[in-house]
Amino acid sequence: TIDLNGRTAVVTGGAGGIGRAIADRLLASGCRVAVWDLNVTAGEREGLVFQQVDVIDEVAVTGAAARAEEVLGGIDILVNNAGITGPTELLERYDYAAWRRTVAVNLDSVFLCSRAVIAGMRARAYGRIVNIASVAGKEANPTMAAYSAAKAGVIGLTKALGRELAETGILVNCVTPGLIGTELLKQMSPEAVAASRSKIPVNRVGEPREVAAMVAWLCSSDCSFTTGAAFDISGGRASY
Ligand code: NAD
Repeated sequence: TIDLNGRTAVVTGGAGGIGRAIADRLLASGCRVAVWDLNVTAGEREGLVFQQVDVIDEVAVTGAAARAEEVLGGIDILVNNAGITGPTELLERYDYAAWRRTVAVNLDSVFLCSRAVIAGMRARAYGRIVNIASVAGKEANPTMAAYSAAKAGVIGLTKALGRELAETGILVNCVTPGLIGTELLKQMSPEAVAASRSKIPVNRVGEPREVAAMVAWLCSSDCSFTTGAAFDISGGRASY
């Protein structure tokens, strides 16, 4: 079992499919958790607080970090999970606002939320940051260029930040899930879902708890010699 007793975490997008599974898994490991999401109707439970935060609003993120530090007593773990698929059509038909929003929610959010918690982690010489990227950031998902570009950016940011913080006790890693059964799939075209589904050697869609299991390990002190790395959770879908 993974022991996170006494640890505190922020999970962005924790009202959604994968984020909720991560928040539940961290809670079950003894961690206290704050969820940052646009949607706060998911319901608080013992050890779990919801904060309504738009993860691309710089002022809101800074304020939420200060409040979470106060309520939880310092943030040990940050899981950057909030994301949207954005446009699912040919790039030549994208409008610029949709491109920018997609890159912002998937990538700028990782910058903003990480920046907001690093000082506290540095002061305590301990931290775990786990980013939810996607296999789409390594291998093309046709008609999802903005999402692919943003998720590739998340992998690059993970590597750079992992390296920057390598000697501080703060480890930064990411996971690259393949197709996981959540509401997010409704944002994709049926063709894009079918194309992604056909690439899974184990021949089924993944479950949020299967992502949460690896994320929980990356959030723990058992993970101690791994930083700046990306891990597939994709049912065997190979990606470079
Ligand atoms: P989901 O739609 O179920 O959950 C996403 C959550 O993020 C929602 O609760 C939503 O309210 C929140 N959110 C969106 N924009 C936000 C914003 N601006 N500020 C705060 N919160 C915001 O989707 P999911 O499948 O659970 O996705 C979670 C993460 O996993 C995303 O980053 C997604 O790209 C990634 N991912 C999902 C899959 C998949 O197949 N489902 C595959 C690879 C990666």
